[in-house]
Amino acid sequence: MRNRLQSDTFMVSPDGGGLPGQNENIRGASNDQTCSQKAYNNLMSLLPPVFLVGAGPGHPGLLTLRAVECLRQADLVLFDKLVSPLILEHAPADAEKICVAEIAPHHDQRIVPIHETMIAAARAGRRVVRLKGGDPYVFGRGAEEAEVLHAAGIPFEVVPGVTAALGAAAYAGISLTHRACASAVAFVTGHENPHKPESILDWNALARFPGTLVIYMGMSRLDRIVAALIAANKDPLTPAAAVQCATLGQQRTVVGTLGDLPRLVREEGLAAPALLLIGAVVAQRDTLAWFERQPLFGKRILVTRPRQQAGALVHRLVELGAVPFVLPTVEIREPQDWQPVDDAIHALRHYDWLVFTSANGVRSFLGRLESLGFDLRALGNVRLAAIGPKTAEALRDFRLKADLVPARYQSEDLAAELLTQVKPKQRVLLARADRGRDVLRETLSQVCQVEQVAVYSQVDALDLDEDVMNALRRGEIEFITLTSSNIAKSLLTRLDATCLRRIENGEIKLVSISRVTSAEIETLGYKVAAEATEATAEGIVDALTKWVR
Ligand code: SAH
Repeated sequence: MRNRLQSDTFMVSPDGGGLPGQNENIRGASNDQTCSQKAYNNLMSLLPPVFLVGAGPGHPGLLTLRAVECLRQADLVLFDKLVSPLILEHAPADAEKICVAEIAPHHDQRIVPIHETMIAAARAGRRVVRLKGGDPYVFGRGAEEAEVLHAAGIPFEVVPGVTAALGAAAYAGISLTHRACASAVAFVTGHENPHKPESILDWNALARFPGTLVIYMGMSRLDRIVAALIAANKDPLTPAAAVQCATLGQQRTVVGTLGDLPRLVREEGLAAPALLLIGAVVAQRDTLAWFERQPLFGKRILVTRPRQQAGALVHRLVELGAVPFVLPTVEIREPQDWQPVDDAIHALRHYDWLVFTSANGVRSFLGRLESLGFDLRALGNVRLAAIGPKTAEALRDFRLKADLVPARYQSEDLAAELLTQVKPKQRVLLARADRGRDVLRETLSQVCQVEQVAVYSQVDALDLDEDVMNALRRGEIEFITLTSSNIAKSLLTRLDATCLRRIENGEIKLVSISRVTSAEIETLGYKVAAEATEATAEGIVDALTKWVR
């Protein structure tokens, strides 16, 4: 079973913003490991070993709080193909994650192996999260999995999820019920067990149903479904819609009448996963379709930050309707040698200024300080400088206030502001990455004593995700966000000719986080389409939305 007390102390949560003390059961208990571990294990043994969890319709924010709680404890996550990778990030980095499509290519062949995997893992004392699209009990075969667990004597908990119908309704602007025109709603499968000789669905009854029909898994039999409803006297002029990839930036909606729907779907090339919605409520879509009016709706945008830092930008993009692709181009690691950092921490009282140039630097330095057995008192009277608001925020998470944040968030401005404050002979400690620009040291050392320590190391990511690279090659990504000079250099010097051609002819547009990053991009010979006025994730998103507008 997952040992929460041995969780990592280095670095960050998926959104790059984990609060210190967030894992209180871990940190708070570290003084008395054995006792707390026992108490923790006792508590955990009261919970069932298997959670059948609904992952919602796709949007990573449409997950329940309970689903997140379960994921955080998982040793093994068995997930459906449609579950977003962003949702999986709630599980610990070292939890095993298996997509059920890997177990067997065909749906029917994987049922038994899924059951066996869950049972074996639970018996081995691992906490299993079986993560299913939408809700486990709406066309999800969740009941079969629960029955098998029950038969095996394995306790389980079921966590409901937002089923696709609810997601599509909200995000495509189709209210499933409405006082004026729909007093009932029916969820129907368009894909019954193929081994059944006859449909057990009563299409006559469904045609007469006094409300909205939502048909799951109906795309491959759309013609037959529509024909069956019309043959049973459903008015062919009934408003009808198909919604593909509901709740995601990829969402596509086709609206027409029941009679027209198969043709429209064919013409627009809609495919699974999609829902059919049939009923008078579909006609109100024009008023209610808020999601498709989001400023970045459908825009395909590449995020190149290290995975630990990509969260905030990805979150903002998703929120505005974009389709984010994550391609960490550089990686953040522990510094190669902690000794210089440790020495500086021991000598902290001799410094006048401690300067941070990234949130990562803050978390790494203060994390190290803590793990050496110190607490914040070790900082004494040292004054704190942060390059920008995110770095200052990281300090605030440790209950520390930055004494200085420059008006513009780049090294030149930080150096200039510091110059107005430091006095000759004062000692300044720069806690920074092992690579990057030298502006701060060069400028400050003209007037005072500057030492720098690498509190984390930044290396080019060894492998660039091939799926994302292929999406770039095929022209499926319209924007590349570049959030530092290092990232710009690392990516642009590694793209192949096809991608570079798309950048050169403007099909792929480069969005830069700052003037300094833009300069690097231009030095490499490329044009910057948009530049953030503030060097933060929000600044990048602002530049993107302005460009799109
Ligand atoms: N348990 C799931 C349904 C599984 S059946 C739930 O509660 O939502 C799979 C079908 O769900 C797909 O064929 C499609 O009809 C529908 N579906 C799932 N996610 C969808 C999405 N994001 N947009 C549209 N339809 C979706």
